[in-house]
Amino acid sequence: QAAPVITVDGPSGAGKGTLSTSLAKHLGWHFLDSGAIYRVLAVASIHHQIDPTDEQALSPLAAGLDVHFEASEEGTRIVLEGEDVTDSIRTEEVGAVASQVASLPQVREALLRRQRGFRDEPGLVADGRDMGTVVFPSAEVKVFLTASAEERAERRYNQLKEAGHDVSIDRLLADIKARDERDMNRSVAPLVPAEDALVLDSTELSIEQVFDAVLAHAENRL
Ligand code: C5P
Repeated sequence: QAAPVITVDGPSGAGKGTLSTSLAKHLGWHFLDSGAIYRVLAVASIHHQIDPTDEQALSPLAAGLDVHFEASEEGTRIVLEGEDVTDSIRTEEVGAVASQVASLPQVREALLRRQRGFRDEPGLVADGRDMGTVVFPSAEVKVFLTASAEERAERRYNQLKEAGHDVSIDRLLADIKARDERDMNRSVAPLVPAEDALVLDSTELSIEQVFDAVLAHAENRL
C-alpha cells in the first residue's frame, strides 16, 4: 500500500501553495510543488539557450534535470545545477516560459517519475495542475481550488507590492488570463478538475476557511 496523497490543483493564484504547505505542515506530510519543477526547467532552458518550443531538446533536459530541494531554516531552497534559484524562479517571466515548456507532451512525460518519487510515508500533499488527473490518479483526496481571475490578480498584486515590486494590476490580470487560457486548452494534461475532486471557489473565502473546509473533507476520506 503506497503512502496516501492529497492533490491540490487549480489555476495560478487561487491559493494552492498556501493551502498545500499548511496542510503538509499540519499533517506532518511531504510536499510537492510541481510548478516549481516546471519553473526550474524554464530557467534551465534559458541558461542553455534552448527555445521553449523545442520539444526534442527540452525532453532530455527535463529527464536529466539536476534539481535538488533542500530543507533549510528559512524553508525549502531550490538548487539547479549547483545554483540557488529559489527566488529567481518566481518571476512572471519565468512563469510564462514554464507554462510554454509545460505544454509539451514529452516534457511532461519526462517529469512524471520524478514527481511520483515524492510519494512517501507518512503521506504527500501535491500542488499543481494535473496532480489528481495524471500524476496521482489514485490519490485518496483531491481538491480543485479556484478563484475569479480578478481576485487572483489582486492577491498577486498585493503580494508583489509587499515584496517591494512595482507592477500594474491590469498587466497582472492580462498575464493571468493568458496563462489560464494556455493551461486549460493544451492537449496534454489540461487544467481540469478530476471527476472525484472537491471543487472549491476561494474568491469569497479566507485562507482559514479554505483550510478548514479541505481538512474536514480530507479527514472524512483518510
Ligand atoms: O504553479 P506555478 O505557477 O508555479 O506553475 C508554473 C507553470 O507550470 C503553470 O502555469 C503551468 O503551466 C505549469 N504547471 C503544469 N503542471 C503542474 C504544475 C505547473 O503544467 N502540475
